[in-house]
Parts: sequence; structure tokens; C-alpha cells
Amino acid sequence: MSGEKCSFCGRSIREVDGKIIIGQNSAICWDCVKYFAHKIYDEEGKFSLRTGGTIPLPHQIKEHLDKYVIGQERAKKILSVAVYNHYKRILSRTGREEIEKANILLVGPTGVGKTLLAKTLAGFLDVPFFIADATALTEAGYVGEDVENILTGLLFAADYNLRAAEIGIVYIDEIDKKARKMGANPSITRDVSGEGVQQALLKIIEGNIVNVPPKGGRKHPEQDFIKVNTKDILFICGGTFDGLDNIIDERLKRTQIGFKFEEEENGKNKERRIEPEDLIKYGLIPELVGRLPIIVQLDPLTVDDLKKILTEPANAICRQYQKLFALEGVELIFEDDALQCIAELAYKKGMGARALRGIIEEKMLNIMYEVPQMKKVRKCIITRKVIETGAYPIYKTQDGKILKPEGKCRKEPTSQVA
Ligand code: ADP
Repeated sequence: MSGEKCSFCGRSIREVDGKIIIGQNSAICWDCVKYFAHKIYDEEGKFSLRTGGTIPLPHQIKEHLDKYVIGQERAKKILSVAVYNHYKRILSRTGREEIEKANILLVGPTGVGKTLLAKTLAGFLDVPFFIADATALTEAGYVGEDVENILTGLLFAADYNLRAAEIGIVYIDEIDKKARKMGANPSITRDVSGEGVQQALLKIIEGNIVNVPPKGGRKHPEQDFIKVNTKDILFICGGTFDGLDNIIDERLKRTQIGFKFEEEENGKNKERRIEPEDLIKYGLIPELVGRLPIIVQLDPLTVDDLKKILTEPANAICRQYQKLFALEGVELIFEDDALQCIAELAYKKGMGARALRGIIEEKMLNIMYEVPQMKKVRKCIITRKVIETGAYPIYKTQDGKILKPEGKCRKEPTSQVA
């Protein structure tokens, strides 16, 4: 008789808050009951790792990513294969042979879809997902977040279902900000902000049983901990790694092959792959680099990509506004030239797709203010001028008549208004 322990997950009565069913020779906790119930009642055809389905094939994962992430073709392909292999490794485990876990590092400028990729993957696989910001993390004993709190967050995302959390995905953003500051001040032998956190992260990323404070915060000795096994948690780290280019340049210059690699082709520099040694030179500790064997480089977004991001993804910003307007009974139309203008403005800001929402929100504010009081409006057409000069959009009635906005919230309308 297993007495106080769940025979499936091994947690004690105390660890499961007394929620346990005790049989003659074994016991099962509520979380495990839920897990197996899901497994049995999983909807036909709907994949859900949380509920124990089958793993979608790499091309199915990629197709799903395509619905939400514009461009980044190579990154999407690498991630689809990596995630497929990761979960295949878990679900086909026989107990003896262990295929080592391969966590992922995403390198690319800000706002190009690193977080979005991780989030979309987790959503598709229906596994718990948590985003952590490396800049907030500190080594135990210093002011800031303990690394274990990442797992508290994941547990929370999993509704405290330990089994679900243990196959979840964690995205650790801004990992590059924890690089050792080498060279800047050689007198510092121990870089508190960087190396210590990397060491602490290594412990959870490489696959260990970690004592996690269930409610987060600082660890203290009298506290009860949840033991989380991180060996099947997929860690995706992301960072911009500003200045890494120079390190790659240096390496390429050192090697004959490097020169060939750098040769210009059709006026464009060929892609230069990041090697683990570049990351170590940048300031990541070799052990951590070793635990992030899949390095995915993301491309900067072009004006064309930005324009597509406005309208194409299933949850695109323009579609969101169109839905909002539809609730008012108004059809919202963005002219192609207006979209081009928004994309160009965003491109100039150099923040990737991050700038898009801000620009649209600013340009739409007055319109959102006006439309609800313009009862006859059935169509609202956003032209380039609306974006460029803050002019009124073209408002049309049911029978196509152009309407003049009421109120004096803005300067006189331009020629578009009759
Ligand atoms: P980062 O690369 O800095 O992690 P995010 O993934 O957080 O960037 O993207 C910021 C915003 O821009 C999100 O709202 C996201 O939806 C959008 N975005 C960024 N890149 C893309 C992309 N390639 N396709 C679609 N949307 C994107």
C-alpha cells in the first residue's frame, strides 16, 4: 500500500493538499485523475499534449505557425522539427534509452516574432506556457526574482497540474542581458548580474528536480516546496545579442572558409550562421550554450513583412479593429496605400512589428471617438492621408453618400469629405 503517496506522480498527501484517492494497494491524486480523464475523453482529432494526444508532424506545426507568424521561414522550419522531436522524445520514451533534451536559442532583433513563435507553438500543442524576463532574475540572495519563480509561473499557467507543467514550454526573454560583462572591467572576478543567473538557469534548463515555492517569492527553509522535474520542459531562450555581428565578423576573418562565406552574392551578404563559440565570446557560459544546441536566427522584418503583419495573421491588428467596428455596424476598410504608409512608419522606428500597434492606435483614436456618435456611418475608409496627416477617413452611409463627421474634435476635414 503506497499510503500517503500518489502511485503515479509520487507526491505525498501534503503536496497534493490532501486531494488523493486511496485504494487497496495504491493511491492516485486528483491531478493524475484529471490527467488520465483528459487522456480518455480527449476530443477526437484535436491535438492536445496536456491531454495526451499524438504529436503533430513538423509540416503541421509549420502550417500552424504560418497562420500567425509572417516571414521567418527558416526559423519556423527549425522550430517545427525541434518541437516535434522534443515531444516525440517524451511520448515515445521506453524508460531505458534517453535522448537528450535540445533546448532552443532564438537570436534576432527586437519585435520580429521571437516571443510570438514560442507562444504560438505552446498554444498549438496545448501545453502550459510561461514567459520569463531574464533581466528581472538574480542569483539567490540578491534583490530580484529567484530563477525558481519561472517554474512557479509555469505551474500557475498549468493550473497547478504538475504533470502538465512538466511538459510545458518556458520562454526566457533577454537572455543576452545576462551575458558576462567581459573586458569592460577585468577587476570584477564575479559578475553577479550575469554569470550567477546563468548558473542558476543552467540548473533548471538542463533537467533537474527543482524545489519550487508554490506561490513564488523568495525561498525560505520552513516553506513547503513542489518538486518539479524539468527534464521534459522545453526552454526557449531569446535575445537580440547586439554586437554579436562583430564577433562573427572576427571569427570569419580568422578563417579561410570565412572569407568565402562572406563573399557577396547578388549584392547581398550571405547568411552568417552563429556558432556556439560566438555566444561564449559574447558572454554566455559554455555550459549554458551547451544546453541550447538549437540556435535559430531570426531575420529583421522588411516593410513588406510589416504590411502583411497588419492584415494577414489570424489575429492581425487591422482585423481586430475591423471586428470592433463591426460591433458598431460599421465596415472598416484600410486602403492598401494606408497600410503601406503604416508599415513604412513602423520600419523607420526600427522596433520590428512592435511599432505597428502604437502607430495604428494613435491614428485610430480620433476615429474611434467619432464613429459611435455618427449613427449613419456604415463604411469607414482609412486612406494614406489619415495616417500621414491625421485627416478624416472617408465615412459613408448605407447608400454610399459621403458623410461629414460631427463635432469639432479635429482640424477641418480634407478634400475627401464632401
Ligand atoms: P520579439 O522578437 O521581441 O520577442 P514579439 O514576438 O514579442 O517580438 O513581437 C512583438 C509584436 O509584434 C507582437 O505583437 C507580435 O504579434 C508582432 N510580431 C512580431 N513579429 C511578427 C511576425 N514575424 N509575424 C507576425 N507578427 C509579428
